[in-house]
Amino acid sequence: MELKSSISEIKGIGAKTAQLFHKIGVYTVGDILLHFPRDYERMPAMETVAELLARETAEGELAAVAGGVERAPVVRNTGRMPITTLTLREGDYTLNLVWFHMPYLKNSLKHGSNWIFLGKLSRSGNRLSLDQPQVLAPEKYQQMQGSLMPCYALTQGLSKNMVSKTVRLALDSLDLGQDYLTEDIRQRQELAEWNFALENIHFPVSEQALAQARKRLVFDEFFQFILAAGLQKNQMEQVKNEFVFAPMEESWAHQVMAGLPYELTGAQKRVLSEIRENMRGPVIMQRLIQGDVGSGKTVLAFLAMVDCAQSGYQSALMAPTEVLARQHYETFVSMCEQFGLRIPVILLTGSMTAREKRRAYDRIQLYSKAIVIGTHALIQERTLFDNLALVITDEQHRFGVKQREKLYLKGAQPHILVMSATPIPRTLALILYGDLDISLVDEVPARRLPIKNCVVNTSYRPKAYAFIRKQVELGHQVYVICPLVEESEGLEAENVTDYAQSLAKELPELAIACLHGKMKGSLKNQIMEDFAAGRTQVLVSTTVIEVGVNVPNATVMLIEDAQRFGLAQLHQLRGRVGRGEAQSYCIMINTGENEVSKKRLDILNQSNDGFFIASEDLKLRGPGDFFGIRQSGLLQFRLGDIYRDGALIKAASQEARLILAEDPALRSAAYECIRKQIDAYLQDAAETVNL
Ligand code: ADP
Ligand code: MG
Repeated sequence: MELKSSISEIKGIGAKTAQLFHKIGVYTVGDILLHFPRDYERMPAMETVAELLARETAEGELAAVAGGVERAPVVRNTGRMPITTLTLREGDYTLNLVWFHMPYLKNSLKHGSNWIFLGKLSRSGNRLSLDQPQVLAPEKYQQMQGSLMPCYALTQGLSKNMVSKTVRLALDSLDLGQDYLTEDIRQRQELAEWNFALENIHFPVSEQALAQARKRLVFDEFFQFILAAGLQKNQMEQVKNEFVFAPMEESWAHQVMAGLPYELTGAQKRVLSEIRENMRGPVIMQRLIQGDVGSGKTVLAFLAMVDCAQSGYQSALMAPTEVLARQHYETFVSMCEQFGLRIPVILLTGSMTAREKRRAYDRIQLYSKAIVIGTHALIQERTLFDNLALVITDEQHRFGVKQREKLYLKGAQPHILVMSATPIPRTLALILYGDLDISLVDEVPARRLPIKNCVVNTSYRPKAYAFIRKQVELGHQVYVICPLVEESEGLEAENVTDYAQSLAKELPELAIACLHGKMKGSLKNQIMEDFAAGRTQVLVSTTVIEVGVNVPNATVMLIEDAQRFGLAQLHQLRGRVGRGEAQSYCIMINTGENEVSKKRLDILNQSNDGFFIASEDLKLRGPGDFFGIRQSGLLQFRLGDIYRDGALIKAASQEARLILAEDPALRSAAYECIRKQIDAYLQDAAETVNL
């Protein structure tokens, strides 16, 4: 079996189970190994009966009670079922242990013997008991206590046990072979071996082993990302700019700026001239534009593309989701019309029919000044640009490096612009985007009112619904976000499917639509268009609308189970409102009890500034919090966290730089394994984030 083998080659995985695995994004044996646990279950500390009974306990809680057998267990037969009971005593405290169908236990639970009883607590009246506890020798339990049980992201029909069993089988039947990292690097950075790391991220034998496993895997993620970017930079650094642009003055871009219903902010103006000068400079542009949600990056992209068209070139804009690509397309078409610009705008997305795509390709061939907008289908299919001068990636995310590589391969080297809302410290940005120059849009349009926030519990819902009704009466629109698409096993959280239905009962006079990533592309588009056009008033959605969506008439963002989202993600979601001139509101419903998540939500409540939020979030997460809630999908790594793991990013960058300095193209035999790993990493570009 190999990493590339299909998941169904693992023993016990039939077609049905394989499909369930596909649902959680697992297709190959390699995928299941990378399906890292979300968290771990820890064995509880041993305690005596008195200790247990003296403290606060919860029904269903796992407890490990140490106790001696003072009186032999009693076996009763009720019906055909033998019930064994044993009472543990300590002073005035007693705890009942109950087993069904296990009369033979009587033989081992001898008078005077000592055991650990591990089971879930149940309560009847005010009597506490352990049902069907495991009986373990104290030494055995001590051993078990160190190990951690993995908890995986699941889907309906796929149980925790099924996933752990499959991971176990995959680990056992794979030959993971040689570690691709050199001994040198591992020693210098104190990194565990790859096979140890994979084993222990899934089945850690101790907290310490988990920490080591995680450190290695996070290092790998950053190392591969940085090395791939560095290799690319070496291959194409300082490409001479052969494009000839029209002079900056009296350009179409100025005409557009003069006609906009607003004036560009100082930051927008500054960044725009950086871009336009760069495109006229001696070398090809490779630039990152960082700006918080709502800072107005889209219009900059438009102006840069208009600049290309005026000079007789094509340009392309890539968006991470179909919804976003279509939205940009609509915006650009209407801006061209409004400003009397005769520029063909062409849409190209994965969900278009073969005929529509063919037509788009034909038009791309035909129009030398076209503005092309699309999803990654743009670069994955045999698109033929013959005159491409600029490629813009909106909402750059973790596959950015791979996708950039693909674009570089497309004939003449175009100017590259990457736009991101991820607020990362400049030092880290320089490492992660080492191959790019950075421009900051560090100002939001002044006319906007700051969003008003509140964090509430579910008892506030009726008020929230009344508020929604009022806002709709004023002509505004509303987003409601739920974490799940459908009901899911073991997860108590709202799902859009049921929520939309019950909301329709609460607010029967409103037009309510439901949107999630599992819908067909064409349906998603229809729903989004209806909302953008104001035909629906309330959109109940998953985080599929997290990035980039712009419907300025929407003024309310209601987020259910808000504590389940990462702060950066909540900030992105909230960025969907407050885009017009009306006052906007963000209502976060906290359904958790956890103190820390309450504090996290308070940070959001206090501030609308992405940078502040990211840094406060970091302070709240302790060093042991490996699996704090995931950050937003922007620049996301599987395990690595750009805020938390700054030190590892620096270490990875150091090692990558050493290698590149010595062997810029990674040709030497010493780096053969690393080269192969990076090739595989870059090849993996087919992986699109199709939210
Ligand atoms: P983001 O940076 O998050 O991509 P957008 O480009 O989508 O933000 O802009 C958000 C909204 O702000 C849009 O409706 C856009 O028309 C508007 N906008 C952009 N620049 C300005 C400005 N200088 N003044 C007022 N509104 C602006
Ligand atoms: Mg945007």
